[in-house]
Amino acid sequence: MVLKDFVEEFERFLDEKYREPMLDAFEGYPKKRSVAVDYQLLDAFDPELAKKLQENPDEMIAAAEKAVQTMKPLVFDDLRPLHIRIFNLPKNLETPIENLADDQLNKLCQVEGVIRKVKSSEFILKIARWQCTHCQTTLKTSTDKTNIIEPTICQCGWCDFKLIDKPGQSEFVNFQIAQLQETTDKKPSKKVNKLIEIHLEDDLVNRVTPGAKYILTGILRQINGKHKKVKINQQVKYLDIIHLKQI
Ligand SMILES: [Zn+2]
Repeated sequence: MVLKDFVEEFERFLDEKYREPMLDAFEGYPKKRSVAVDYQLLDAFDPELAKKLQENPDEMIAAAEKAVQTMKPLVFDDLRPLHIRIFNLPKNLETPIENLADDQLNKLCQVEGVIRKVKSSEFILKIARWQCTHCQTTLKTSTDKTNIIEPTICQCGWCDFKLIDKPGQSEFVNFQIAQLQETTDKKPSKKVNKLIEIHLEDDLVNRVTPGAKYILTGILRQINGKHKKVKINQQVKYLDIIHLKQI
């Protein structure tokens, strides 16, 4: 399948299984900017699409959000998309925080933990837009606040991109960093329970409380060096949260 087919398949899925929530969201937009979508419902509807979503969440969530725009054109601006927030991954895709590893980078994963430190929110430049110079496909990459990351490869097989830096193409979002710690009942050892930084954006900002326990769905990412608290060249992983649920 090419990207266009994924968009159409998401459209079919959302129309069939999420018609009511979508209508509610369209009505509540822009105050309401998220629709929670059950991964296992998608998996039952189209296992190939669900697998693709788990392995390549950036591209697939973009396809899902494109499907949303097709269902209700003209309502949305790029700066305030209606988020498709995936939750309820199967247990085999739930990972203890300390086991989050390189082979899960940029993939969808689910973790459980207790929120520790929550920093104050800020506005940041979050998304860089790129256009393939061969097939004109546009792709988005997330910035890590110091570096702009170029996409690796286009769906057409080339890897020549130009940055779209027109006004309105850069996305500033409300942003917040917090720390998530392994829950003690899962790891009864005396050593300090593993922490991971989590990044919360847009309508997920100011939604977590220190000390409370959550199941979080997110995309594992890595910051290379230049992080103020670590040595240059060291790599820091964090979870880009797409859905959270207090438990
Ligand atoms: Zn291309």
